Amino acid sequence: MTTTNYPNLFEPLRVGNKTIKNRVLMGSMHTGLEDRAKNYPKLAEYFRQRAAGQTGIMVTGGIAPNVSGWVGPFSGFLKYGFQVKRHKLVTAAVHQEGSLICMQILHSGRYGYHPFNVSATDKQSPITPFKPKKLTDKKIRKQIHDFVNCARLSQKANYDGIEIMGSEGYLINQFISPRTNDRDDQWGGSYENRTRFALEIVKQTRKAVGEDFIIIFRLSMLELVNNGSSIDEVIRLAKDLEKAGVSIINTGIGWHEARVPTIATMVPRAGFAWVTELIKKEVSVPLVTTNRINHPQVAEDIIASGKADMVSMARPFLADPDLVKKSQAGQEQDINICIGCNQACLDHVFQNKRASCLVNPAACHETEFVKQPISKMKNIAVVGAGMAGLSCSTTLAERGHQVTLFEAANKIGGQFNLAAAIPGKEEFVHTINYFTHLLNKHDINLKLNHKPSESELSQFDEVVIATGVTPRVPGIEGIDHEKVILYHDLLSGRKQAGKKIAVIGAGGIGFDVSEYLSVENPDEAQSIADFCAEWGIDQRIESPGGLIKAHDEKSAREIYMLQRKTTKPGKGLGKTTGWIHRLSLKKKGVKTITGVSYDKIDDAGLHIRVKEKPQVLDVDHVIICAGQISNKELHREEAENYHIIGGADLAAELDAKRAIKQGTLLGQKL
Ligand code: FAD
Ligand code: NAP
Ligand code: SF4
Repeated sequence: MTTTNYPNLFEPLRVGNKTIKNRVLMGSMHTGLEDRAKNYPKLAEYFRQRAAGQTGIMVTGGIAPNVSGWVGPFSGFLKYGFQVKRHKLVTAAVHQEGSLICMQILHSGRYGYHPFNVSATDKQSPITPFKPKKLTDKKIRKQIHDFVNCARLSQKANYDGIEIMGSEGYLINQFISPRTNDRDDQWGGSYENRTRFALEIVKQTRKAVGEDFIIIFRLSMLELVNNGSSIDEVIRLAKDLEKAGVSIINTGIGWHEARVPTIATMVPRAGFAWVTELIKKEVSVPLVTTNRINHPQVAEDIIASGKADMVSMARPFLADPDLVKKSQAGQEQDINICIGCNQACLDHVFQNKRASCLVNPAACHETEFVKQPISKMKNIAVVGAGMAGLSCSTTLAERGHQVTLFEAANKIGGQFNLAAAIPGKEEFVHTINYFTHLLNKHDINLKLNHKPSESELSQFDEVVIATGVTPRVPGIEGIDHEKVILYHDLLSGRKQAGKKIAVIGAGGIGFDVSEYLSVENPDEAQSIADFCAEWGIDQRIESPGGLIKAHDEKSAREIYMLQRKTTKPGKGLGKTTGWIHRLSLKKKGVKTITGVSYDKIDDAGLHIRVKEKPQVLDVDHVIICAGQISNKELHREEAENYHIIGGADLAAELDAKRAIKQGTLLGQKL
C-alpha cells in the first residue's frame, strides 16, 4: 500500500520469493527476553504487537550459534533441535499478523562477557575483562559449521531469514579488521584472508538454506576505531558478499569500543545515512541504512534521496509499536517518539536488566502492561503536569475516567522542559508534544496557572499529587548573593550567565548545565557535518576506521564544575551515555574539581577549599545544581484517596523514566 505522505517508504520491496510490505526494518535489539525459554511467550507478544503495527520486516535480538558466542553468561543460543520450538512461538505470532521476521545470528567473539570467549586474536578487548582464546584453523571451521547449523535451525523455526551480525566489533568483524586480526595463516593478513571467515559463513549458509531464505549481512561500514577498515575494503567486501549470496546488506556503524557517539540523542537525526550512500552505487542488493532515524519523514527523505533502499529503526519500535501504522494513517501526532536517551533500553541491557523504554514502560513488558477496563468511572484530580502527572492523567483518561489536571505553570512538562533546553537533548520536546496531543485526544480538563486549594481537591473521588521537585538551595554563606543562579532560572531563560562560571554539583543536571553554558548558542541544533568534525569522523572514510583528528571546540565560557565527593564526576550518569557527557566537556576544556568544601560566595567569587587548601574562583556567576527536594505540601498521607508519584514522592535519583513508569502504573490501578 502506498500513501501520499510517504510514498517511497511504503513502497513494497521484493526479496527472493518474499515481499516486504514497506521499507521499514525493525532493527535487532537485545531485550533480555530471548535469553530464557520461559520468556518466549512474552517475546512472541512483543513481536506480535510490532507486526500488527505493520512493520515491514523485523530482526530478533542476537542469538549465538554456540556457547562461545554468548554475549554474556547463559545468553540465548540456538544449536540444538530441541531449542527450535520456543522460536516457533515468535514466528507464528509474527506471521499471524502478516509480517516477516529474521533471526539475528550474533557471535560476540572477544566481546563475550564470559570465560569461554574466542576470537581471531588472543588480545583482550578494552571493554571486557575476559581474555579470548585464539581460534585454531580447526576451530574456525567448527565456528563456520555452527553458524550454518544455527541458520538451518532458524529455518526450521519458520523464520523468513537470518541477519548475520558482521559489525559492531563482534567475532566476524574481529576477523575482517586488521585491528583485531593479527593472524598469519589463511584467516589473517591480506584482505582475502581476513574476509574468508565472513564469506565462507555466507556461502555455506546460502548453500544450506536455499535461494529463498533471506540472508541479511550487517556490514561494518564505518568502524570508528583506529586501524579499522577503510571505504575501499568495505566496498570490496560488499561486492563479495553480494556474490556469496546475501539478499540484503544492513549498515553497521561503530564498534562497541569506539569512543564516538553513534546512537545517543546528541547524534543528529539520520546522522549516518551518508555512510550507506557511499556504498549505494557499488552493489545491486538492497541496502538498509540505520542510526537515529526516529520519524517517518526522516525515513521517507532518506529513501526518496536514494541514499538507501530501506531504513532500520530499532528503538523507535520500543517507544511505539504502531509507528508504521500511525504513519500510514496520517496520525503522526499519535506517534510516541523515541528520544534517543538509552535510559531504559541500552542502559538496562548493559546492567543485565530487561529492556524497556523511558517513554513507553510497556515495551518488552507487553503481557504485564495490559490496559484494565474500569469498573466505575471516577472523577480524578491530578496535580502537576510534569512527566509523572502527564503519564498518570493520560492513562486514567484513556481507561475512561474523568480527569482534571492542575498545573501551576503556564505550560505542561515540568522539569522536562528544562531538559529539552540542553544542546543535544532537543528531541525531548517530542515527549511533551505527544502528551499535549493526548490531553486533547482524551478530553482531559487541563487547568494551567492553577494551584488547587484543599477544598477544590476535596470535590474529587481520587487525588494524585505529582507536584515534582524544586532545586535544593544549599546552606552556603552568601547563597543570596546576586552572583547565584538556580539551574531552573538559568535554563528557563529567566536569568543569564556571564563568562566565568562555577557550577555547584556534578550530577546529571550539573553536567547538562555545563554543556548548556559551554556552547555559544544552545538553541542551535548541530549539523551532521559539525557533529562529524567534533567527534573526528572522516566523512569520506579514507582513513582506516574512518577516524580523523577531532575539531576540539573550546567552551564558550570558562567553567568549573564542582562536587564535594572525591569520586569520578558523573558517576551516576547513564551507562551508555555518561562517557559521552564526560568526554564532551573535557574536550571543551571544562574543569572539574572534586573533594570541594564550599566556604562562601561574595563579590570576589566562590570561596572553596580543596584538601583544606583555600582558593577563590573569581567567577561572574555560581550556578546551583545541588539536587532537588520534593514538593509534598498538598499530600495528605492519611487520606486513602490521595496518591503521590514522581519527584513529589521521592526526589533522590529521580528521572523521567521513574516518573513516567510510576504515573502509568498508578493510572492503570485506580
Ligand atoms: P516535575 O517535572 O517537577 O513536575 C511537577 C509539575 O508540578 C511542574 O510542572 C510544577 O509546575 C507542577 N506543580 C508543582 N506544584 C504545583 C501545585 N501546587 N499545583 C499545580 N502544579 C504544581 N530525566 C531523565 O530521565 N533523563 C534526562 O536526560 C533528564 N535530563 C534532565 C535535565 C535537566 C536540566 C533537568 C532539570 C531534569 C532532567 N531530567 C532528566 C529529570 C526529569 O525531567 C525529571 O526527573 C522528571 O521530569 C520529573 O517529573 P515529575 O513529574 O515528577 O516532576
Ligand atoms: P544528582 O545527580 O543527585 O546530583 C546532585 C549534585 O549536587 C551532586 O553532584 C552532589 O554532589 C551535589 N550536592 C548535593 N547536595 C548538595 C549540597 N547540600 N551542597 C552542595 N552540593 C550538593 O541530582 P541532579 O543533578 O539534580 O539530577 C537530578 C536527577 O535528574 C538525577 O537523579 C538524574 O537521574 C536526572 N537527570 C538525568 C540526566 C541524564 O542524562 N540521564 C541528566 C540530568 C538529570 P556532592 O554531594 O558530592 O557535592
Ligand atoms: Fe528511545 Fe529512550 Fe525509549 Fe530507548 S528508552 S527506546 S532511547 S526513548
